[in-house]
This record gives sequence, structure tokens and C-alpha cells, in this order.
Amino acid sequence: MHTLNSKMIKRNVVFFIGAGFTKAVVNTAPKGSEFFEFAFDEKRSFIKDLRVQRVKQFIENNYYTVGKQNYPKIEDVSSLIDYVIQRKESLSKNYLFEDVLEIKKDMIFLISTVIKKTIEESTNPDILKPSRIFIEKLHELYKRNIDVSIISTNYDIIMDNALLEIIQSSNYQIRLRKNIFWNPKKKLEQVKVHSNEHWTYQGGNATHEGTLNEGKIPFLKLHGSLNWFYCPKCDELDITIGRKGANELAGDHDKFICVNRFCTSNYQPLIVTPTMLKLYDNSFLQQLWVEAERTLSKSDEIIFIGYSLDPADHHIRSLLTKALINNSNNPRIVAIDKKPDKNDQADIQRINEVHQRYTTLFGKDRVDFRPIGLSNFLKSWDPILNIQ
Ligand SMILES: [Zn+2]
Repeated sequence: MHTLNSKMIKRNVVFFIGAGFTKAVVNTAPKGSEFFEFAFDEKRSFIKDLRVQRVKQFIENNYYTVGKQNYPKIEDVSSLIDYVIQRKESLSKNYLFEDVLEIKKDMIFLISTVIKKTIEESTNPDILKPSRIFIEKLHELYKRNIDVSIISTNYDIIMDNALLEIIQSSNYQIRLRKNIFWNPKKKLEQVKVHSNEHWTYQGGNATHEGTLNEGKIPFLKLHGSLNWFYCPKCDELDITIGRKGANELAGDHDKFICVNRFCTSNYQPLIVTPTMLKLYDNSFLQQLWVEAERTLSKSDEIIFIGYSLDPADHHIRSLLTKALINNSNNPRIVAIDKKPDKNDQADIQRINEVHQRYTTLFGKDRVDFRPIGLSNFLKSWDPILNIQ
């Protein structure tokens, strides 16, 4: 056990954030199995979008048991799409290779739209409060001379915004070229974006500003990010931070043309779902995964928050295992999961399974499993992190 002053070398804490963190902050965010039910709800306006209709049609045409309450998991649909794309073949006579490529773009639009919508729809006006408190606490650790990093599997930008607002940090550990934005007052046909070396962000009744790639707390997004814009021709990554016109870009990546004035390429999103088969063919993601492994292999503590260690996340399980093989600190593992609903047997069962997966992968002696929920974790922060 490490206390603050007992180590000569700097204590190193890694926070590993999963989908449960987002769910704890935005309680309407749908999980994998609820995703399509949420997305295709007739109440929501985006169901009218042609791209959303195409995804719905794709599922209805290709899944045998589909019914209104019985959509497949989003991971299953995205892995089918990637399976076909990787083999460069058609799915069927109705879905040729080109059609499947199109569906993949539509899916990414749908994922981005659902994430944006869940945050908008949340009735709590102070929705980002837990993420702000979390970043404030991380900042305190940093000020106590502790090395702190965040690794996340989420592509929403809840944590990103808290980092911008609380400590003006945008340190993604990959080289971002420009902060891009689009002028919504201009006609939509005008698809060339504008850019800046700096960023400004409006949050908590104040304007915050900073410089790209700088910040106190490294933040590694293993599955990409909604606000990342990749130009395949330049092999460069741009980001969109803050402005209203900027947020409107997310999900519509391929509509916009690269900021480089000599380049005519459209942007691509950089979002991968856990099941995607060819995870590493993008050099930026490769670099991120290398950095994540390096970070985990020198950690003294890894605190998982809302990460279920899903058996389907083969890449992440391997990343964790390899990093720990090469970690000589025998790091302490803390896993924070949601509090089980006492009246829901399936929920209790699910949390037991998560616990089991942690002890199987990391060993019983090392794992400190705490199904207490995010807010209780934030309340009992000091004892859990051994801060005196
Ligand atoms: Zn370009």
C-alpha cells in the first residue's frame, strides 16, 4: 500500500474509464443492448433522417428475430459490418460491399447523434457535475505531486469538456493539428472548415481557453473521440472544441473538407467500437494504444470506473494483461462499479459477474472491487486513494 510520502519516486495513478462512467453522469445514455430501441424511438426527431432510416432498414432486413423491442446489440451489428468490410465482399444480393460501407458511415452518424441527444435530453441542468468533481479531485492529486493519467474507452466528450473547463487541459497524447470550426451562418454548401491553434470553451458561466496538445493530465481515448476529425490524405488529426458551429460538425465528418488549403479530402470520423476487427490500422490509434500500454506498465494503481471488462473486449483485455506482465510495481487494482439494485436479481448477477471477471484477470489478492457507484466513490475518495 502506498501512502503519499512513503515512496521516494512519484506515485503513479491511472484512471481507466468505461461506459458506466458516462451512464452514471447521463443516466439516459443507452447501453449496447438498449441502443437501437433508444435510437429508433418514434418520439425522437432524428429517426426521420435518411441515414438513421437506412440503419433501421438494414437491421430489419438482416436480423431474423427483429421486432420493436428486440433489436440486436449495437456491438453485434457493428461487428457484422466490419466482418463484411474486412473481407471486401457483399453481405447479400441486397447489400453489396458499397452498400455496407455506406451503412458503416450511417452507423457512425447514428452513434454520434445518440450521444449528443442523450446529453441534450437529460433533464438535470447541472448534468456534468460528477465529471467536474472528478477532474477537480484529479487536479488535487496532481498538485500533491502524484502522476495522474486517464484512459477511456468512451467516445463521448463529457470528460474532455470537464478537463477543458476545470484545468484547461487538452492533452490527448497524440498530435492534434488544428482546432477546426465551421461558420453556421454561411451556407451549408460551404463545407471548408476554419481553424485555430488555440481553443476556447464556454462552460460553467465562463470562457476557458488553452493551447492544443497541452495540459496537466494525459487523456488517452482508446476508441477515438466524437470530436476528432481525421484527414486520410494529410494523415493528420484535427479536433473541434467549444464553438457552437464546432459541435454541429460531429457526426457529419464526411460532409466537411480538410482545413489544409491544399487538400481536397473529406474528413473521416475516428471512432471504433470494441468489436471492430481492424482496430489498429489507423496510425493515431496505434500510437495511442502504445502510449496506453506504457502508461499502465509503470502505474502503481489502476482505478477502473464503470468498466465491465466485457469478454468481447479482447483488445483491451490483452492490453491490460501485457501491461501488467511488464509492470514491476505490482499495482493495486480498484474497480468501481454501479451499486446493484437490491430488487433486481439480474442486476445483482451482472455485478457479481463483473467482480468475477476482475479477479480472474488480475488475481483475487490484488483486486479491490467496490460496487458503490460514482457518487459514493467521489465521496469516499480520500480513503480509497489512501490520501491522508
Ligand atoms: Zn487533408
